[in-house]
Amino acid sequence: MADKIWLSSPHMGGNELKYIHEAFDANWVAPLGPNVNGFETDLEKYLNTDVKVAALSAGTAALHLALIECGVSHGDEVICQSMTFSATANPIAYQGALPVFVDSEKDTWNICPIALEEAIKDRIAKGKTPKAILAVHLYGMPYKVEEVTAVAEKYNIPVIEDAAEALGSTFKGKKCGTFGRFGALSFNGNKIITTSGGGALVCHTQEDKDKAVFLATQARDNAPHYQHSHIGYNYRMSNITAGIGRGQMEVLSNRVEARRAMNKFYQDLFANIDGVTVFKEPTADYFSNHWLSAILIDPKVAGKTREDLRLAFLEDDIESRPLWKPMHLQPIFADSPYYGGKVAEDLFENGLCLPSGSNLTDVERKRIADKVNQVFGK
Ligand SMILES: *Cc1c(COP(=O)(O)O)cnc(C)c1O
Repeated sequence: MADKIWLSSPHMGGNELKYIHEAFDANWVAPLGPNVNGFETDLEKYLNTDVKVAALSAGTAALHLALIECGVSHGDEVICQSMTFSATANPIAYQGALPVFVDSEKDTWNICPIALEEAIKDRIAKGKTPKAILAVHLYGMPYKVEEVTAVAEKYNIPVIEDAAEALGSTFKGKKCGTFGRFGALSFNGNKIITTSGGGALVCHTQEDKDKAVFLATQARDNAPHYQHSHIGYNYRMSNITAGIGRGQMEVLSNRVEARRAMNKFYQDLFANIDGVTVFKEPTADYFSNHWLSAILIDPKVAGKTREDLRLAFLEDDIESRPLWKPMHLQPIFADSPYYGGKVAEDLFENGLCLPSGSNLTDVERKRIADKVNQVFGK
């Protein structure tokens, strides 16, 4: 049998090992060093505004530190997009705060600005102003930046942008990760670029970055001995993995192009299949890196469900996966309030993520196309 086709697998550029060798040669085998600084500078240049970036051990760590810097603590409430990966919501629980989940809208599949405002008004009426809003650029698609920002500003609540899936995406030409009070990036093995595992916090002031690095390195006060007046974390990025990141930054633009070409491939493949729509940008203001390409299947029209397609793919060792199961439907968050309707739930019911890697070959694309045509009788 042919090799497994993955949803999204690591894709090295070529120079990653060069940076790792430099680290070994200089004995910078530590969670600090030239690769960490270099990777941060590469990201700052790429994001193309005067942001300050702190390289961390994970995107989850970045979200956690963003919440801490927004002053989120025990008993607080934080608004969170329901349709997302659990890593968006978990750090709210780390702080002993309560996630308040909000539905998606149909254009970008991200947080619905109308349900968001309803949620804020109702939480305020119930006695607590939410401390932050966690909005996600799902699968690389920018959320409705202007509408979400307007609601946040109206109630003076900071936005934490989960851009873990959206490095390389833009809204009106501006890079995702730079719109919120903080932005979180991820370099996990399945993301558009990887450091094997890692993340970064995008800040807008040196002070915010310094605070993140301070907290990420065990919160040591300025003293010759170990002195602490804050709870610290071990969240800094290793100089070895940062070397992978520097190599990956050299090819990021190619990776964005290749993922977008995969999306075009699916647009063409499904063009003649009724009842299947490929997720794409609602208007020219949105530019998605198409980290994952996803489809919605209307079983009444298509005559097949997303499970039919998923299981058919599985037979041929082709990985596909239902969209994120909304957080308000997860057992662990059963006690959290939820605002909105059934948009996220319907997306979860009928949506499927398809193999989207930047390293897929023509032969693999043909295997995918043959399977799709077989399932839909084309
Ligand atoms: C991957 C991901 C994260 C977490 O990033 P890690 O680097 O794996 O900790 C958070 N949010 C979303 C939406 C993600 O896809």
